[in-house]
Amino acid sequence: MQFNGVTVPADGQVIDYREGRYVVPNRPIIPFIEGDGTGRDIWKASQRVFDAAVEKASGGQRSVAWFEVFAGEKAFQKFNEWLPNDTLEAIKKYRVAIKGPLTTPVGGGIRSLNVALRQLLDLYACVRPVKYYAGVPSPVKSPENMDIVIYRENTEDVYAGIEFKEGSPEAQKLIEFLGKELGKKIRSDSGIGIKPMSVYGSKRLVRKGIQHAIENGRTVVTLVHKGNIQKFTEGAFRDWGYQVAKEEFGDVCITEEELWQAPYNGKLPPGKILVNDRIADSMFQQILTRANEYQVVCTPNLNGDYLSDACAAQVGGLGIAPGANMSDGFAIFEATHGTAPKYADKDVINPGSVILSGVMMFQALGWKDVADSIELALAATIQQKKVTYDLERLMQGATKLKTSEFASAIIANM
Ligand code: NAP
Repeated sequence: MQFNGVTVPADGQVIDYREGRYVVPNRPIIPFIEGDGTGRDIWKASQRVFDAAVEKASGGQRSVAWFEVFAGEKAFQKFNEWLPNDTLEAIKKYRVAIKGPLTTPVGGGIRSLNVALRQLLDLYACVRPVKYYAGVPSPVKSPENMDIVIYRENTEDVYAGIEFKEGSPEAQKLIEFLGKELGKKIRSDSGIGIKPMSVYGSKRLVRKGIQHAIENGRTVVTLVHKGNIQKFTEGAFRDWGYQVAKEEFGDVCITEEELWQAPYNGKLPPGKILVNDRIADSMFQQILTRANEYQVVCTPNLNGDYLSDACAAQVGGLGIAPGANMSDGFAIFEATHGTAPKYADKDVINPGSVILSGVMMFQALGWKDVADSIELALAATIQQKKVTYDLERLMQGATKLKTSEFASAIIANM
């Protein structure tokens, strides 16, 4: 079998998805997109780390059949297309993929390759774990208080792409309609954007967040919204979130309101999950002052975009922040930073973001031994103050390693 003219590794096997879980063979085929710019250096380093961890954790019993698929500049050079259909077909067939950063094409065609991938595969949850690794330079006093997984809705809200330029016939038509039919006055020189948020989109996101809490022993799920102002979108998100908690997870979930009444009287019983909600602006204060009170956060698209980066900054920023875009049975794990083109092919950039995205991937596949081995080895390497330039310039007495050397140091620490 071939995709983009490249033959799939003959000895690899397909990952399946049954009853809400990936069924993973001993040599799964996993498509990867190397990424543009620094993606090349990062991918080379990350793949070495992944292969070493799988080999060591399984005693050679398991391995990954990596399969390159193309997007971004490399795809454009080869096929004159930024996102070939075969790439999407391969990801659909093999379900789980990992990617480096991609250049956003300037002018015309695809608005953003990342957004296109998410929309075409309906990857409705953007998942960002944010936790502190000892030794990483941080701008806050107690960065270790942060250990949060953010579930950001990925398909709706103001990111739905329904926007009309000021002065366009479409904007004028909408302004007229809203004035005449619904009695809502909007200045005639306004651009217009639409913020759709549905029961379906909101509930499936919160459901995934609660499932994560159950599967990972987390005891607090927080719905972050701006429902005090945007009542029928953000406020409805909160209400639908509580509905999911009560109707589908009533045996484990307790709402904040219930917690303060008998029989709980403020004490969360073992095995239960507290579901609470916070208004977005207050949440930005809380992650700075009381980060340890939060564990899993479910939030609409725009809040989630801001919150993910704000949280990542508290624990050491972009170079090591991992991420994934998921639906039920499909996932793309990816660097959260861009292509940092000025460092391309210089073997200097921090590969931590893709390496930790790999940790998320192996966790999702149920290869916890592999995930733990990589994460512990990366943490140990940072504690030894062996780091790439971005961390070295902020640390006292650190050794500056190249991208490839950092990967070797991680492997040595496994
Ligand atoms: P960027 O590539 O994230 O780089 C901005 C700066 O962040 C870098 O100059 C570097 O700072 C630091 N940085 C980023 N990744 C790092 C890493 N792995 N290790 C150490 N430092 C790192 O942002 P950009 O320059 O705005 O965007 C460049 C291209 O990437 C654009 O085409 C953009 O559209 C695209 N992009 C893609 C994605 C994605 O694929 N998910 C996400 C964002 C942007 P210093 O110079 O201070 O060292």
